Amino acid sequence: MALRFSCNTKISPQHHARVNSRSKNCLQTVKSLVNSIRLPHISSTPLESLQQGNWVKLICGASFEDVVDIKNLSLVYTLAGVDCIDCAADASVVSAVNEGIEAARDIKDLRRPWLMISVNDDKDLHFRKAEFDPEECPENCSRPCEVVCPANAISFEGKTSHMTGVITERCYGCGRCFPVCPYDKIREVAYVRDAITTADLMKRDDVDAIEIHTSGRQTTLFKELWDALGDSVRHVRLIAVSLPNGGDSTLSSMNEMFSIMKPRLQSFNLWQLDGRPMSGDIGRGATRESIAFAVQLATAKDRPPGFLQLAGGTNAHTINGLEKEGLFQTTSITNHSYDATSTNSSNALIAGVAYGGYARKIVGRVLRSLQSQHGGTACIEDHPAYLLQALKEALALVGTVKLV
Ligand code: SF4
Ligand code: SF4
Repeated sequence: MALRFSCNTKISPQHHARVNSRSKNCLQTVKSLVNSIRLPHISSTPLESLQQGNWVKLICGASFEDVVDIKNLSLVYTLAGVDCIDCAADASVVSAVNEGIEAARDIKDLRRPWLMISVNDDKDLHFRKAEFDPEECPENCSRPCEVVCPANAISFEGKTSHMTGVITERCYGCGRCFPVCPYDKIREVAYVRDAITTADLMKRDDVDAIEIHTSGRQTTLFKELWDALGDSVRHVRLIAVSLPNGGDSTLSSMNEMFSIMKPRLQSFNLWQLDGRPMSGDIGRGATRESIAFAVQLATAKDRPPGFLQLAGGTNAHTINGLEKEGLFQTTSITNHSYDATSTNSSNALIAGVAYGGYARKIVGRVLRSLQSQHGGTACIEDHPAYLLQALKEALALVGTVKLV
């Protein structure tokens, strides 16, 4: 096997040669360190994980495009045993994810997680960026925007006339900076991913799945996107639809979308239940809405075919919440608070969990420390102590699903 243990992301050829040589020297050190901790024994394919109810997806963020972080996150979470890595539908981001996956597989002989790209059919919280001109900011502003940003996407470094403001590739559109600006300087810039570019990405061998974010309120735009993707949908193994809880109309929307997809649906399909979008890093309270959404769908008798997976508010408390509802790795609901419901399928009622903001936050702390010591393009595999620390953080989360 060719040695791929090197970091190419945004690095000059000279730097790359230095890193490559250093990487070869520390590969054995990294392998030994990684072998010294308990990693989940992953023998199941991603599809089997979905069927068994222990599927874990890392969400890099539909709008997050910092390729250095994305490569490092993908490396760490591949080692931790995730089944899928979900990222922006952008060629350079896809390459960064693949680079991280392959660097992890050079360290340990692991099966490859699926790579999923995320797109939207209309305006969506996940597909927007914040924007402001730092030169318009009053000098005496205490900069609450910088403090509240969970992605370190706001910076005032540089000379006064060249201050950065929002670092576009790091902003993932969480919206927390908008209400805190006392001078109303921050604007929202929404966008929709281009269907033609997306269709081309789906034909790549290293892209396994697509996720369509939709409001579920009306299906016209969903159908337009589905039609525009054409035959590319036949090239992937999994089609996911991510939707918020629309209350009573959720099931009818899902059934309508399924009937739109059905004629060209040759792969497996999944419903991502986006409980409270982009809130998993806020705390325990955020978990409740995603669990409530899971209960609502798992107990519905007329839902369309497809795996059910939680997102939006997911964090280290999520599996505990599912267990309390009798919904973790089970094919039927036995909790006394519901009518006994069983399906004719041997698949788990809830296929698994996707972790976004919380997953990025716990490993991001290590990445920020790494970068402050070794520069913004530092590759985590070149710094074994940081890699070990990041891996332990990732395992504390992924292990709630995989180490049971
Ligand atoms: S707070 Fe959220 S929306 Fe604002 S810059 Fe940071 S990531 Fe972007
Ligand atoms: S809070 Fe508003 S005015 Fe203050 S620095 Fe941030 S964007 Fe500028």
